[in-house]
Amino acid sequence: MNPSSKSGGCGSGAMDPGRRDVLKFLAVGATVASGAACDLEGFFRKSFRELSPADVRRMVTSWERKYSRQYGKSVTVSEAGPMDGVKFGYGLDLSRCVGCRRCVYACVEENNQSRKEPQIQWIRVLEMDKAHGIDINHSDVYYDAAEVPRPGKFYMPVQCQQCDDPPCVKTCPVGATWKEKDGIVVVDYDWCIGCRCCMSACPYGARHFNWAEPSLPAEEMNPKTHVLGNRPRPKGVVEKCTFCIQRTREGLYPACVEICPVGARKFGNLLDPDSEIRQAMDTKRVFILKEELATHPSFFYFYAT
Ligand code: SF4
Ligand code: SF4
Repeated sequence: MNPSSKSGGCGSGAMDPGRRDVLKFLAVGATVASGAACDLEGFFRKSFRELSPADVRRMVTSWERKYSRQYGKSVTVSEAGPMDGVKFGYGLDLSRCVGCRRCVYACVEENNQSRKEPQIQWIRVLEMDKAHGIDINHSDVYYDAAEVPRPGKFYMPVQCQQCDDPPCVKTCPVGATWKEKDGIVVVDYDWCIGCRCCMSACPYGARHFNWAEPSLPAEEMNPKTHVLGNRPRPKGVVEKCTFCIQRTREGLYPACVEICPVGARKFGNLLDPDSEIRQAMDTKRVFILKEELATHPSFFYFYAT
């Protein structure tokens, strides 16, 4: 793809600072210093999807060196791909969730989300009235988690639904986001131009924009990362839940599933009839959010009781 074509499309068409700097640099014909040469390499690299395995390994190794230097610890960047015969699905038992928000905080820590200014949280837990049922427009996301569960209320966590027909993917003008074979929708942080088209297209508010350089204290940085998941993001790109791609492609549960004190979260392979998620789907009355939009989420809600 011609890099100059990447500023088109919906939204502001804002280009990330790195690319903008490089264009300015090219325009004035400045001398290529070693740092700038490195930026140029990043600027002209292909989308992650088009890279050869050797290119990916080379790139990943250079990120590992860069992050290890930056955070003062040994950082690994996995490029593990989807496993054959696996399509991930997620279940949330609304009858169990007590709204403690531990999943939110575990997700922030696991996935290296910006701690403040901007504070980014991929999971939001909504408090709703039992009397009114599910009514997102009248839910409260700022309730006091120290006082839960409150009488007359129930709690509904919302995060990326990993849609099978994702509008966010369709709207991206540069192909920086796509759906992997195992159902996880990912973002190439080096290809994203920050136009935020995907954010306006997502009906679940599941995408988040780095308005400023993310604040990630070195001592809190999780060094086990994935290239399409929780590796540090730059300012000016969009990010979202990836079902903890760095964990689930290694056979582990997402961090939110592991931390939940009441077992409200279920996860597994939808193609395996014995998996926990299939058991839930086969035995409970499940529903999906905003079914009428035909986004076909891989995220299911149910009441076990
Ligand atoms: S929930 Fe939003 S961000 Fe996630 S796949 Fe669906 S449209 Fe995309
Ligand atoms: S940790 Fe479990 S109970 Fe607590 S808010 Fe998250 S899903 Fe609900």
